[in-house]
Amino acid sequence: MIPLSTPHCHTLFTDGRNTAEEMVAEALRQGFVSLGFSEHALQLFDFPYALTEESEAQYIQTVQRLKEAYQDRIRLYLGMERDLLSCADKAKFDYVLATSHYVKTARGNTAVDGDLSKIQTALREDFGGDGLKLAKAYYQPFGAYIASYKPDIIGHFDLVVKYSRQGELFDPGSPAYLRIAMEAMEEAFTGCTLMEVNTGAILRSGAPSPYPSLPLLKHWRKLGGDVILASDCHFAPQLSSGYEKGLAVIREAGFESVLILNPEPGELFARISL
Ligand SMILES: [Zn+2]
Ligand SMILES: [Zn+2]
Repeated sequence: MIPLSTPHCHTLFTDGRNTAEEMVAEALRQGFVSLGFSEHALQLFDFPYALTEESEAQYIQTVQRLKEAYQDRIRLYLGMERDLLSCADKAKFDYVLATSHYVKTARGNTAVDGDLSKIQTALREDFGGDGLKLAKAYYQPFGAYIASYKPDIIGHFDLVVKYSRQGELFDPGSPAYLRIAMEAMEEAFTGCTLMEVNTGAILRSGAPSPYPSLPLLKHWRKLGGDVILASDCHFAPQLSSGYEKGLAVIREAGFESVLILNPEPGELFARISL
């Protein structure tokens, strides 16, 4: 196993189950060398799910305090998970993990990882039952967002497969689907060259493999991208859950190194050979 770290975790400030300090205690217990917090950044809808202006300020203050309190034991980072519809200011944070969770529909923004019945309604009413149209509505704005916003990390790139692993919305192994995803990936690569391999759903919802899927991960390697293991942890004991599987997939895709949040002062990331 590589030195343990994650740039992606959530606490009680948004939809996680532990305090930030409990996350740090668990990271120390598991021997983590660094830990990045990435709360769901400020957005102007779907309120309970993301930081508000008030909780953003508390979040920043809390992580800054923990950084100092634990500086001799572990390197902590203040990040944010910034959806493409977020309006948060990246200047306040150490890094930005950019993600997409919604497709635009007649009813507003429908989460692709939220309520299954809502995404089924969207498929029927907004995309004429054509899952590939839904996939395109997810990927095209996401690719454009990464290209223009230039975040530090791309998060759960193919989240749209969450409810389509058995082909429910579209066939995730079909050339037509993969072409849509790869085109967005190529556009994204012009704005960010680091993608997380997100193992969070393996334990949380029984996903067979991390995000992104192996064909997409292989394409990312061909483009020359780097990867970082991320647990997208919402519950402290799961801080490194799925990491063995994640690392196996990274190796299978042909990567010879991964990045982690730097345990030392200096650059944001450190490279670890596999
Ligand atoms: Zn997310
Ligand atoms: Zn997350």
